[in-house]
Amino acid sequence: MKRLILATRNANKVTELRAILAGAGLDVELVGADAYPEIPDVKETGVTFAENALLKAHALAQATGHPAVADDSGLCVDVLNGAPGIFSARWAGRHGDDKANLDLLLAQLSDIAEEHRGAHFACAAALALPDGTERVVEGRLEGTLRHEPAGTGGFGYDPILQPLGETRTCAELTAEEKNAISHRGEAFRGLVPVVRELLG
Ligand code: IMP
Repeated sequence: MKRLILATRNANKVTELRAILAGAGLDVELVGADAYPEIPDVKETGVTFAENALLKAHALAQATGHPAVADDSGLCVDVLNGAPGIFSARWAGRHGDDKANLDLLLAQLSDIAEEHRGAHFACAAALALPDGTERVVEGRLEGTLRHEPAGTGGFGYDPILQPLGETRTCAELTAEEKNAISHRGEAFRGLVPVVRELLG
């Protein structure tokens, strides 16, 4: 069975991609980057989600000698011309402070009316082979931003993004409901034909 490494230490992402690959009948052993603790994390020096996903996938493929997948994602707000974008995880200054990031964004948008509160989550998923072959697929979840957070599920900006056609925020959806429509779900599902082509 071919081994495929996913550049993440998040067990939920590994579970999500593993289920998608298995559901498509692909005979691939997916393992997270935790299986290679000696390999350092890569600096995300790219200026797009795709560049950062490719950087991470190539670094892991080179270091392990196995095909590697990496994803990079964020929230893009229409009225902010796509920001926070690649800066989503550190919008308020400190990497990974979800509450500070969300509070700052809500304050910045406080005077913006309903009809101008469009936003989307974007995700790029890259697959790289040790020989340098690369592919990138992208996914999106379109929605609008609430004025106040709602819901306790999910992470990041989930409590303020209401998907189009929904009355609930992402933080009020079950994990299954969110995976079915999410930017990452769409990008991961887009990897199926790529994995089949390059590893099948
Ligand atoms: P990552 O590339 O998956 O680590 O995501 C980077 C940042 O984008 C996260 O820290 C969140 O702030 C934001 N983000 C990405 N995906 C989501 C999501 O599905 N829900 C909420 N926030 C997200």
